[in-house]
Amino acid sequence: MSSNTPVSAAPVSNFIRTIIDGDLASGKHSSIVTRFPPEPNGYLHVGHAKSICLNFGLAKDYNGKCNLRFDDTNPEKENAEYAQSIQDDVRWLGFQWNGEVRWASDYFDALYDFAVELINKGLAYVDDLTPEQMREYRGTLTQPGRNSPNRDRSVAENLDLFRRMKAGEFADGAMVLRAKIDMSSPNINLRDPVIYRIKRAHHIRTGDKWCIYPMYDYTHCISDALEGITHSICTLEFEDHRPLYDWVLDNITIPCHPRQYEFSRLELHYTITSKRKLLQLVNEKKVSGWDDPRMPTISGMRRRGYTPEGIREFAKRIGVSKSENIVDMAIMEGAIREDLELRAPRVMAIINPLKVTITNADGAQTREADFHPNMPELGKRVVPFSKDLFIEADDFAEVPPAGWKRLTLGGEIRLRHSYVMRCDEAVKDATGKVVELKCSIDHDTLGKNPEGRKVKGVIHFLSKEHALPAEIRLYDRLFTVPEPDADRDVDFCTHLNPASLTVVQGWVEAAVRDAAPETRYQFERLGYFVTDRRDHQPGGKLVFNRTVTLRDSWAKEQA
Ligand code: ATP
Ligand code: MG
Repeated sequence: MSSNTPVSAAPVSNFIRTIIDGDLASGKHSSIVTRFPPEPNGYLHVGHAKSICLNFGLAKDYNGKCNLRFDDTNPEKENAEYAQSIQDDVRWLGFQWNGEVRWASDYFDALYDFAVELINKGLAYVDDLTPEQMREYRGTLTQPGRNSPNRDRSVAENLDLFRRMKAGEFADGAMVLRAKIDMSSPNINLRDPVIYRIKRAHHIRTGDKWCIYPMYDYTHCISDALEGITHSICTLEFEDHRPLYDWVLDNITIPCHPRQYEFSRLELHYTITSKRKLLQLVNEKKVSGWDDPRMPTISGMRRRGYTPEGIREFAKRIGVSKSENIVDMAIMEGAIREDLELRAPRVMAIINPLKVTITNADGAQTREADFHPNMPELGKRVVPFSKDLFIEADDFAEVPPAGWKRLTLGGEIRLRHSYVMRCDEAVKDATGKVVELKCSIDHDTLGKNPEGRKVKGVIHFLSKEHALPAEIRLYDRLFTVPEPDADRDVDFCTHLNPASLTVVQGWVEAAVRDAAPETRYQFERLGYFVTDRRDHQPGGKLVFNRTVTLRDSWAKEQA
């Protein structure tokens, strides 16, 4: 099926590719090694998908390698469930990392030894200022910092204190190891940054072996170098950290010096891309979990029915640059829709049924119909017809608006894959609501046009006795405003869309009865749907999630 996806073969160039092309042409590198370095402190989201597509995509296109490395330096926030979900997500997106999964904690011994090297060179010192003093000495954006009174401790004393920090002789937070760089640097990251802290926390991999943990900036560059990464690609907020990245590697004995390049992070309108806030949604039960189909997580998008091909195409369309990358959800939805259009089998379903009784059904025939107009290989199924039908309630209007092409009293429409039908009577309940239509078919219109008149409208339907009940979950955007977390003073949760999930009991064609979880369909005229990964039971309780509507209804509403 993948040969039918719109995913084009040619990569789109960007400034990172230009750099790589130059490095390969000059012989600086003969092949490239990238890495994707998530912290296992949450599920990955759509922004990470961009980074994954970039790092793994470059490795693939250039015949290089991409490592998956967990940045596991904050033991309290990290857990094995997150680490597992991240691996599942990367693979589901269609990528495979080079060799084994790597962990920054694999390098804890090496990182300790490099710290000792820095101390020996007089380039790191143990400081026991309180956090408040530390802040005060650091200065501000406009004021230079001041040297800590501990900055000139002897090498011997620093070695002794650092060893005792490691041995657990001091309380958490009592002291830190700092790189000795420049307290008056205009770049605050260079004002003697902390590189080790004391923290008694159980680590998912090293257990209680360590009570000191290296800081991210110090760990990251060394991990990159130890793995022989050629191009270390990260988001723009690390631009000001690059001098520290380089300083560490320039001052330890390590044969490799990767280069860091920054690109702008993806932000998507109508959603949020902050792990902390996504965790808040999960903890406060605003959603059913990390994989709630409304979540912008990779597992949420997967459960929603997004395809890996569609997400990769989205990543390609938004590109890679250093300029602001706020993207409208419509771009994602468009990429998903285009991918599904070409490969999802099409069937009929009814979300809001209105009963139709055919008064002249005797002798009516059924027809076979293709699952996809352009993909005969997807096969056919019978579309049953009988006296009792369901149509979509809003396909009938007693008082039709101008330009109405659907059903009205006395009017005719084509039933998809079936007969031309005329509505003869609308039956109402005591409140005046239409509860049933009495209609008749033109027996001479199965598979051919009616004689002497044109029937323009086509509506979908189901034969009541053949249809199967299904739970249909209609998802919409999670937030009602494009930038839910733009205003710091307003809790982003106040912008949650109360209509982001509507569950209805609908009906589907029997042809989908045995569909496995994660099977995608187009429900004609209604949108793309997927059988739910968790709750759908083939042959049993059928549960469909709406992935995306057939058209961009938000654009219309706002126009
Ligand atoms: P935090 O570090 O606050 O937990 P994070 O989103 O940076 O959150 P990481 O696990 O550190 O999470 O991210 C892994 C990689 O994904 C990093 O290289 C990061 O730059 C990249 N990344 C994270 N968010 C985005 C985004 N919105 N757009 C593009 N890349 C992103
Ligand atoms: Mg991060």
